[in-house]
Amino acid sequence: MKTRQRLPNYIGGNWQHAATRDYVDVTNPASGDVLVRVPLSPAAEVDQAVQAGMEAFARWRRVPATDRIGYLFAFRAKLKKHFEDIARTITEECGKTIHESRGELQRGIENVEVACGIPVLMQGYNNEDIARGIDEHMIRQPLGVVAAITPFNFPGMIPLWFLPYAIATGNCFILKPSEKVPQTSQWLVRLLEESGLPAGVVQMVHGGKDTVDALIEHPDVKAISFVGSTSVARYVYARSAAQGKRAQCQGGAKNAAIVLEDADMEMTSTIVAESAYGCAGQRCLANSLAITVGGAGDPFREAMSEAAVTRKVTNGLSEDSQMGPVITPDSKLRIERLIGEAHQEGARILVDGRGRTADGFENGNWVFPTLLDRVPPDGMLARTEVFGPVFGLINVSTLQEAIDLVNSQSYGNMACLFTSSGAAARQFRYEANAGNIGINLGVAAPMAFFPFSGWKDSFFGTLHAQGHHGVEFYTQTKVIVERWPDEWSRKF
Ligand code: NAD
Repeated sequence: MKTRQRLPNYIGGNWQHAATRDYVDVTNPASGDVLVRVPLSPAAEVDQAVQAGMEAFARWRRVPATDRIGYLFAFRAKLKKHFEDIARTITEECGKTIHESRGELQRGIENVEVACGIPVLMQGYNNEDIARGIDEHMIRQPLGVVAAITPFNFPGMIPLWFLPYAIATGNCFILKPSEKVPQTSQWLVRLLEESGLPAGVVQMVHGGKDTVDALIEHPDVKAISFVGSTSVARYVYARSAAQGKRAQCQGGAKNAAIVLEDADMEMTSTIVAESAYGCAGQRCLANSLAITVGGAGDPFREAMSEAAVTRKVTNGLSEDSQMGPVITPDSKLRIERLIGEAHQEGARILVDGRGRTADGFENGNWVFPTLLDRVPPDGMLARTEVFGPVFGLINVSTLQEAIDLVNSQSYGNMACLFTSSGAAARQFRYEANAGNIGINLGVAAPMAFFPFSGWKDSFFGTLHAQGHHGVEFYTQTKVIVERWPDEWSRKF
């Protein structure tokens, strides 16, 4: 793509520039270079997309499910064909390493694959003779035009948590990608177009808050899927509910890893360091806090210090990069400020990632791995989502204390335990108040055929993204009770 190119929206099967002068720069977080400019589309643009979606819906819902998934098979083949180019685009605009980009794209493709099972997944159920000569059926029907609003940190995967299920079940879908990483979505939509998908079935409208508000407020958008920070998730959920529409809104996180004395310390520190510093800590499933129990504290602290100082930090396009930059200069400043505040509230800085730069990339948004010890359990750092490569250590005396600390968090996206004790593992998975649980795992990301199950302030809604939940979210049930009188029904 050419420098400073203006990105178009995709509406009704056409690539068209938004009727606005309001554009923002999309920058490469490693170099600071401007890649493209993206429009902040006004409400009129959203309305156009909704109208096109409504028109397409009347035909699309009548296309047999077995034919609808034909487009997804073609889409999958194209994603595989352009895999490296898309992964490169993710790294260029999002900053993560090329390995991480490949990983997230693979996870996205798996959702396309699962949605190809829609002919089975969206089946209803029925009973004959619920009364004499009367049968009852439950079927699933699509909702109409639905929309998804996605964050910057997984530009390849997160749109695919929603899009394949929405269209396979017969809906028409509008994507509003993050304005920080819009080029990856450009790839996804272009490949759907090349797959022959009829106009209006998938559309893309770029923008920010006003575009989101227009989607929520539009009476013909029937459902909203959202992933992003908790404050915006809560807002989108409340405003959607006020419009009487269904919403699934995934928010932020503060994920703790409990480390017991009987854990394999080498494996544990390798896994936790990958979770904490991978994607520069910008995963909603990043471990950002360790709660060590008893004697686990000393060896774990030592191993994590080693992992933090030896991590190779540079432009994610280098095959040997183990960590890229954070997304924006503002993000870097916020993370550095939070490290300073954590120090002021009593934490000890063991490894300080502030004020460092990757060689040859002086204009990038660099924060190197940071490790803080003796983090006050009730303080700011223990409770705030930093969303950067900042890891805090807390030591407690018992597993119960550690679980209580996890459960005192307002977030509930993920909690992890490292141990060799089955009894401890069972107690933990039974009692921990988080929707995704890792046992000897640091990024417990559910596969595409399981729901992405955040709890508490990490999720607002009932049905989560992916798998069966996705199918239920994008369909409404209809129950038919029918009688066809015949000689038998007249006999009794
Ligand atoms: P964000 O909340 O800033 O933005 C998310 C989306 O909302 C973007 O498309 C953005 O344009 C839009 N938006 C931003 N402000 C808005 C407003 N005031 N009103 C309406 N729309 C608005 O989030 P982000 O910085 O892009 O992503 C990082 C956050 O997402 C982190 O908190 C992370 O934990 C969370 N996240 C959660 C999950 C999960 O599954 N729970 C997954 C990935 C990311």
